This record gives sequence, C-alpha cells and structure tokens, in this order.
Amino acid sequence: MTPTPTRPSGRHHVVIIGGGFGGLFAAQKFAGADVDVTLIDRTNHHLFQPLLYQVATGVLSSGEIAPTIRQILRKQRNARVIKAEVRDVNVAEKTVTGDLGGKDVVLSYDSLIVAAGAGQSYFGNDHFAEFAPGMKSIDDALELRARITGAFERAEITEDPEEKKRLLTFVVVGAGPTGVELAGQLAEMAHRTLRNEFRRTDTEQTRILLVDGGPQVLPPFGKKLGRKAHKTLNKLGVEVVTDSLVTNVDKNGVTWKNMKTEEETSVAAYCKIWSAGVAASPLGKHIADQIDGVEADRAGRVPVNSDLSVGDHKEIFIIGDMMSYDKLPGLAQVAIQGGVHAASIIINEVESGAGERPAFEYFDKGTMAIVSRFNAVVKLGKTEISGFPGWLMWLAVHLMFMVGFRNRFVAAYSWGMNTVSPNRWHLVATRQQLHARNAFSKLRALEDEADVRSIEVRDNLKFGEGRDVKTVSD
Ligand SMILES: Cc1cc2nc3c(=O)[nH]c(=O)nc-3n(C[C@H](O)[C@H](O)[C@H](O)COP(=O)(O)OP(=O)(O)OC[C@H]3O[C@@H](n4cnc5c(N)ncnc54)[C@H](O)[C@@H]3O)c2cc1C
Repeated sequence: MTPTPTRPSGRHHVVIIGGGFGGLFAAQKFAGADVDVTLIDRTNHHLFQPLLYQVATGVLSSGEIAPTIRQILRKQRNARVIKAEVRDVNVAEKTVTGDLGGKDVVLSYDSLIVAAGAGQSYFGNDHFAEFAPGMKSIDDALELRARITGAFERAEITEDPEEKKRLLTFVVVGAGPTGVELAGQLAEMAHRTLRNEFRRTDTEQTRILLVDGGPQVLPPFGKKLGRKAHKTLNKLGVEVVTDSLVTNVDKNGVTWKNMKTEEETSVAAYCKIWSAGVAASPLGKHIADQIDGVEADRAGRVPVNSDLSVGDHKEIFIIGDMMSYDKLPGLAQVAIQGGVHAASIIINEVESGAGERPAFEYFDKGTMAIVSRFNAVVKLGKTEISGFPGWLMWLAVHLMFMVGFRNRFVAAYSWGMNTVSPNRWHLVATRQQLHARNAFSKLRALEDEADVRSIEVRDNLKFGEGRDVKTVSD
C-alpha cells in the first residue's frame, strides 16, 4: 500500500532530490529561511567526485571525500535528510516517492529541486560495464582499487609470461580530466609506489594505455594544454591512443578501431576502466515525459528555462548534470551555482512574493586537471596555466571546496606526504569490493524473477515502476 504523502509542517516545503554539489549547496542556501527543506538521497554521503580517482589509487580514503549529508546539515534546523532512492515524481500531484530497501516514503512538495546528477554511459554497450567499471561512486572507486591492486597481486604469482603481460596492462578509456588523472596516477603507482614491493614482478614493466575517440587529450582545455598534458603523460610512461573508438571490451581485453586508418587493435588487459561518457539520471526523462513541450535530450538532460525551472512548472527546478542550458558543461561549479540560484528564487518568492525571476548566469571559475605530481593544467577563461603553478592552483581550489575542516586537513597532509614519500596509505582492498557490483546485479536479476525488492540501492530501477512489488520481509 502506498503511504500518504507527508510534509514537516504547514510552511512552504522544498524537496531536494540529490545531496551532490547542486542539491547540497541549494539546501545550505535555505539556512534561516522561512521554509522546510527535505533533502532525499540514495546514499548517506555528499561525494566530492573530482577526487574519486585518488580513492581508487590509494592516495585518499573514502571518508575523506564523502562526509555524511546528515552531519553537514546537522545544525540547519529547517533541513531534514532522508536516505531513499527516488523512483517516482508525480508532477500533477506534486509528490516524490522514495524507496529504502522496499519501504516507501512519499513527500508532498511546494517546490522541487532536482539534482540527481549523471551516471556512466557506455554509448549503448552496457555489457562493457561488467569488465570495465566506471567511476561515479565510492563503490566504483573501491572496486577499481581492488581491481588495480589485484592485477599486481595476480602478476606476482603467475608463471605464464603472456598472462603476466596481460595482468600488467591497464587500459583507461576516455581522455577527459578523469581518464587523464587516473592514467597519471596509475603510472605513478606502478613506477614509484609499488616499485620495491614485489619480488617476482617488475612493476616498471606496467603498460598503461589511454584510449580516446577524439583527436587530443583533455578536449575542453584546448589544443595547447592538451599537447602539454599529452607530453607529460608520455614522460610518465602512459601510451596515448587518439582518434580510436573502442569496439569491444571483454574479460580478456579491449579492442579499438582507428577512425582515420580503420585499423583494429586488440590489447590483452586484465584491468579496464571506463571514463568515456555520461548520461543524466533517468529521473530527468521521467519528469520531462510528464510536462508538455519538454523532451530530454539523447544524454537524458532536460532543457530548462532561463530561471532553471522546467516548462510551465515554475515550482520544479532541474539543475547540475541533469539540466541542458546554454551549452553549459557538467561541472561542479555549474551545479553549485544552479542550486544557489534556484534556492534564491524560492526564498525570494516565499518571503517577498512573486516578482520577475532573474535568469541564471554562470560565472566561469575555470577548469583544471592534475596530470602528475607537481603538474596540472588550468584553463581560466582565456588564461592557460600548466606545470607547477597549475598544480598549486589545483591544490588551493580543491582544498577550498572540500567539505569539512578535518577532511581539508587530512587531504592536505596526504598530498604533502605524497610529494615526499612514494608510499600510499589507502591501498587496502577487500574481496567484497572486488565482487560486490557483479554479485548485486545477479541478485537483482533473481529478485526481478521472484518479484521482490530487498536491495537498498537499485541504480537500474525503472522510474514509476515497481510500486506494488512485495518486499522480502512481507
Ligand atoms: C570522476 C569524476 C571526476 C570529476 N571531476 C571534476 C572536476 O575536476 N571538476 C569539475 O568541476 N567537475 C568534475 N566532475 C563533475 C562534477 O562532479 C559534476 O558535474 C557534479 O557532481 C554535478 O553535480 P550534481 O549535483 O548535478 O550531481 P551529483 O554531484 O552527481 O549529485 C547527485 C546526487 O544525487 C543522488 N541521486 C542520484 N539519483 C538519485 C535517486 N534516484 N534518488 C535519490 N538520490 C539520487 C546521488 O546519490 C548524488 O548524491 C567530475 C565527475 C566525476 C564522476
């Protein structure tokens, strides 16, 4: 039975879906305002996604980049947090339905801010995911860490030279900031951190390939910075393969086709990592389908009005990675500024009455990517910075935007230690981390067959479906 919709009090009720960059900054903007705020997220933490690759490669621990949302908002008395996966938004009824392990919660809203972000896209080849995980969550980063360290462990005990070569070959697909940062860190790990840790494996023989369909690495940074990053990667021992589309990923390795020569190359590799594409949360399309004249694009992003509301529903705002507006990219700052903009409009209208809504204007604070120790590229409008000055800027900006003094302090300490010591202190990996994702997907298939729901987080859930499904405890 579906529960009755609830709201905290008679005040204007703002429901925020997602506690990432957009949702969290929106929630914080409401501090002290005459509204009730309910933030609903399927995880219990606010994730600093730009540093996920450092969790995957053992520089930072997961807690340092993912404080709990509850803890961040504990002093904001008008905000409450609900951990549940949103699986239905009813635009006509103004309700949001969340699900936690088969238990439903239904919230009625006056204003809705949708900031559920984006997931990995395999461009129609979802079967690649089994062998080449992406990096969007703490689970993904920990699985990758287990796969990376597992490759070296297996190499240490294998007697077969060909298999050893396969185990010491890493392929990163996608040469955007995440792919570049990950490839650089893998090279440092193999050539610096692990150099003296194995007895029968020369980790210097590790091969790291970075494959991309485009003509250069880091396309959003322009040709000059792309060339510099390419050179630094080569110096680190990363082989960069451009103009090449991946056509197959399986247990054994990766195949790609050069778009200029049509030549196909297959490389045997145990560890494959996907950082090539994103698709907005399916929640966007689910909402767009209920609003006349609004259609989500191919990447699932929803076109929004200049105030970031959707169609003629002035009470619904879609922000961050889920919105399509003015060709803005999927960046943390776009989400943060969008969240603050939507919250400001709501506060203004609740406290001072409706007036003309201001248009969202994005202030570009620049983009940056770290390529290796002491070396980052930064694009700030027309200004381009690279090398050590870029690295210092990267350091300052990332420390500034991490949530919580302790996390900033610990990250600064870890990065400081990392510059003087080859060691990494967060390389612990468990069997659960390695196998849980694939085990979960098998369990989900079994649950679908048996028509029950017990798993808390079901990222492949179809929106609006499954309402009357039994829970295992029923
Ligand atoms: C590996 C990586 C590296 C990146 N590096 C950079 C960088 O260097 N610089 C930069 O500017 N940007 C970077 N980005 C992009 C940046 O992180 C995103 O643009 C930003 O997080 C978008 O914010 P958002 O609020 O739209 O979504 P997110 O921050 O992704 O938050 C979405 C939230 O919604 C929750 N959620 C999703 N679906 C549901 C549901 N159905 N029910 C309940 N909750 C749900 C999620 O758990 C999550 O907490 C990177 C992204 C990744 C993945």
